[in-house]
Amino acid sequence: MNKREIKISNNISLPKRGDALVNIFGYPKTFQLPTLENISGKYINTMYSTNDITVDWNAYKKFLSEVKPDFHPHALLIGHDSSEIENITLMALGGVLQHMNGISNYALVGENNINILTDIIKNKQPEWIGFNLYTGLTDFVFKWIKQYKIERASFILKRNISDFEHADRLLKNMVREARGPVYDGNQILYAPIIIGGHFNNYSFDESFEKGGDYVVRGKGINIFRDILLGLFEPGIYHDPMPYANIPQMDREVFYSDMYEFSDKTKGYIYSKIKSILTALGCSYTCSYCYISSLIDNLKEAYQNKGIKPPSIIQDRPIGTVLAEGQDIIRLDEHYGVKTAAVFDQADISLNNMNWWNELGEKWMHDIGIPFYIQARPAMLAGKKGIERIETISKRGLVSGISMAIESGDQNVRKLLLDRHENNSIVLDAIKNVKNFGVPLRTQAIVGLPVIKPSIPFNPNASKVSLVDSEGKEHYYDDPLQESLKCLDLVCSSFFRREDYYWNAIYSPFPGTPLGDYSIKAGFATGDTASRAYLFSSESGLNCFSDLTSKRQLAFSLTSNFFAHFKNGKDLMSLFIYEQDNYDLDSFSNFVLDQKDNLLPNDQISTCGLIPNISKNCLESFFDHAYRDDSDCMFKEINKKLAGYYLYLLDGLLLAAKMAVSYHTNKENKNSFTLSNLYRVERLHYYDNCYHMNYIPEKYADYLTDYLKK
Ligand code: SF4
Repeated sequence: MNKREIKISNNISLPKRGDALVNIFGYPKTFQLPTLENISGKYINTMYSTNDITVDWNAYKKFLSEVKPDFHPHALLIGHDSSEIENITLMALGGVLQHMNGISNYALVGENNINILTDIIKNKQPEWIGFNLYTGLTDFVFKWIKQYKIERASFILKRNISDFEHADRLLKNMVREARGPVYDGNQILYAPIIIGGHFNNYSFDESFEKGGDYVVRGKGINIFRDILLGLFEPGIYHDPMPYANIPQMDREVFYSDMYEFSDKTKGYIYSKIKSILTALGCSYTCSYCYISSLIDNLKEAYQNKGIKPPSIIQDRPIGTVLAEGQDIIRLDEHYGVKTAAVFDQADISLNNMNWWNELGEKWMHDIGIPFYIQARPAMLAGKKGIERIETISKRGLVSGISMAIESGDQNVRKLLLDRHENNSIVLDAIKNVKNFGVPLRTQAIVGLPVIKPSIPFNPNASKVSLVDSEGKEHYYDDPLQESLKCLDLVCSSFFRREDYYWNAIYSPFPGTPLGDYSIKAGFATGDTASRAYLFSSESGLNCFSDLTSKRQLAFSLTSNFFAHFKNGKDLMSLFIYEQDNYDLDSFSNFVLDQKDNLLPNDQISTCGLIPNISKNCLESFFDHAYRDDSDCMFKEINKKLAGYYLYLLDGLLLAAKMAVSYHTNKENKNSFTLSNLYRVERLHYYDNCYHMNYIPEKYADYLTDYLKK
């Protein structure tokens, strides 16, 4: 890969623990590479010192316009279109371009429309093509890159080149010589491929072999700046440093491109939930999460340096976050949207409460849109937890909190997931959040590899395993029992009607300790990278029987309902073990059969638009919504689901949203399944915690009366 031999240097002026991670000069006045270190031939660490980085991006823009007046790098930045929320990585990289007097274009593509890139490139003529590569969504991207490189190499050399490796080598050499894009006069002949994103965390080699000219692992801001400046030659680069110097994001151009791109991507602009980023980094080491390697990467980079690395969690400058809030408001006005909440994409929110105090006051004064926040149980438990929640809730700064529990078995949580919060901390955290009335989303993983390996396996050779330090095994014969423990934990807590029990089925990420464990223990094959999408509806493991997999899916689709009952675990056990079938019909029959055994956590709710409803009002609505003979079967299902609507958040509205979805499906000749029910229910809870509650237009006249009551 990287041809240059690079020596490890001990004389780098790296920041140490406690140092402010800022360049006091604002930006470097010269154009030179940071110290580079070749890490065992794997990749090159870019050891940026504080003086190497740009923190005052506006001044840097001005500086570049003076010393490089003709410099206007133009990049097409590409991501996937599967996300439910806007892509901040691309907007952040676009921010770098904007502050380098460059031009950004964006495209979000999937397997079915990736070929549109060829037209975009022809029309926009970018000099660089950047991919944000997401594990599990890579095969079609590599296929496109292969075609692109073969076509470009053939065009440039005016002969037919059919061998990809040959084309790739030729183009990489041209890029190396040109230190970037290849031109013929003013005409761009080849725009180099830059690949970033979390796929590179483990599969950086693959990105390089499959066509990336520049492969960026870790933080991309500083490396991207220097690639655009032509400082790097093709290779695999890794920035392990925890700088949070992301410039103000390029929301404006991103939106204008997404507006043009497709109806699907227009949705990101019209969505009432937007992304914001308050901090970077995470100091935890959860074994299933690719972020957990950040801390190891930082330690590796500081090895033999004689100083302690700075904290891995770094807050972004408050002024930049506020400016991005202003952008959201300005663009809301432009597009006629009213953003209801901003989702903090920080891996760990609420780390630095002084920072949040300062931001909170200014944010609510100038921006006034509440945050949706992700936090660990330990950060929400105890006195400190109360202080944290009070700080954000007293100003109306928070619309909802998401908190990962992952497993209800504290041995599994500790030994297998490397999460060290016990169940009392989890319960205390839930109690604290609920004392302030903040809607909560608990997160759990279904289908963890908790069964005993059936192949020879040495737990000592694995970072995680279910054998504790005393040699005691904590395996399950039936993995569903582990999922039931988590449900039971939440059922026994202060979880309330407005709260959502989110869960998804485990899919191993290669390169993470749990992904490696799954492979070593024979639960998964090594080729999961192209399929893994962290959480999906199908298990990424191959160790469960068909029946167990069916039960896991049924558990995952219905667990939010069961989480709202004191006896939720017993009810769920009856459902998954006593039924043969897990479709919508059997679920509705089950709810009807158990109607007298449902022991709800709270009888009265104050949340939602029509908080408390009766069975009669539900039945009248069903009569209203399902009048056609062809709807009578679905009407019957809804009647049987009365206990479901009665005890979930804003049940009448949920029933109305269900009716809208059913009729849309019917128009499109699609059936309405348990998965549809799950999806409508999930979005219904999201609406509430993002302050996006609404009355479906189709039933507005009918429901307005109830609203008044
Ligand atoms: S799951 Fe969350 S807390 Fe754990 S390592 Fe990943 S980002 Fe950090």
